[in-house]
Amino acid sequence: MIRFCVFVAFLLFLVASPVSAGFYPNASSIPPDLHHPTDSAWNAFLNLTGCHAGMKVNGLYKIKQYFQHFGYIPQTLSGKFTDDFDDLLKNAVEMYQRNFKLNITGELDELTLNHVVIPRCGVPDVVNGTSTMLNGGRRRTYEVSFSGRSQRFHAVKRYSFFPGAPRWPERRRNLTYAFEPRNALAEEVKNVFSRAFVRWAEVIPLTFRRVESFETSDISIGFYTGNHGDGEPFDGFMGTLAHAFSPPNGHLHLDSDEDWIVSGEGGDGVLSERAAVDLESVAVHEIGHLLGLGHSSVQDSIMYPTLTTGRRKVDLHSDDVEGVQYLYGSNPNFNGSRTPTPSTYQRDTGDFGAAGRIYGSSFVLTCLLMSTVGLLLLY
Ligand SMILES: [Zn+2]
Ligand SMILES: [Zn+2]
Repeated sequence: MIRFCVFVAFLLFLVASPVSAGFYPNASSIPPDLHHPTDSAWNAFLNLTGCHAGMKVNGLYKIKQYFQHFGYIPQTLSGKFTDDFDDLLKNAVEMYQRNFKLNITGELDELTLNHVVIPRCGVPDVVNGTSTMLNGGRRRTYEVSFSGRSQRFHAVKRYSFFPGAPRWPERRRNLTYAFEPRNALAEEVKNVFSRAFVRWAEVIPLTFRRVESFETSDISIGFYTGNHGDGEPFDGFMGTLAHAFSPPNGHLHLDSDEDWIVSGEGGDGVLSERAAVDLESVAVHEIGHLLGLGHSSVQDSIMYPTLTTGRRKVDLHSDDVEGVQYLYGSNPNFNGSRTPTPSTYQRDTGDFGAAGRIYGSSFVLTCLLMSTVGLLLLY
């Protein structure tokens, strides 16, 4: 009997210590004693505050790698950077400051570094030396159709596209999506993506339908950790949160090392001060990439590259709407207003586990099964 109790306790310990993604109904359900093995590696960049051209400081090579990852330093240069604050770094810092509308000092000042360390999307802001975020920023006239009525506007457009402005072809306007079966995601988690797809479908004449076949769906969604086979490894807790590829690739990947909040309550706002990430906010952003949008320098737009932890930003901004309608035209039913759609889904708090984590039942079963044979080889 004692042996049995020890065995059960061992199983419970294993189940309560998963290495898979952490999903929580809301920020307050994250255990206060939850410690991550490391803080975001990017936090070390704050030690570089005050660095400027001509200096040589330990660790500067790492921030060059950061800027190279997001396109501010050409990919063609080898990753073997020095710790010198050279012209390469100065140019990168200036372009970054321009993109994010910071004071263009060319130095790693406090404001700039405070922005550098904010968790963000892994898709580059600069492609082949050209910033996708500024889009010229020219004031121009463009036409937007609301319910069949065309209106002309004068405004500065900030939305952007991938090089060549790829989009889903005319014959593929009813898209399917599926989830990585090895994630064994709970319905609550899958529903977050359903809601995110609806936000885009409301403004363009595309539909998104969930299917089971991960291999044949147009869009495939999965949570992965570290290197996962596409040359864009995730970096653990915080830092890069997710990435997605341009049409018609259809791959949307999220970092399973984050603490994801799936509550989906209300519209935009502050959820908590905890270092947790609102899943729907990230999903809406990455679907924008799947549809062909690049990053925007409009801070309130969905396609802005960074997402402050504890923030929820799910409502499409006019910049997002205009960008995606440029690619696909307007949904005939879109009336120009972008009201949140909380009534289109239901919350079910009854299925959350004691620790607040959410699993699919097959995940728990797998965990139990694997622990009995002494294996914990979760993906
Ligand atoms: Zn992005
Ligand atoms: Zn990936």
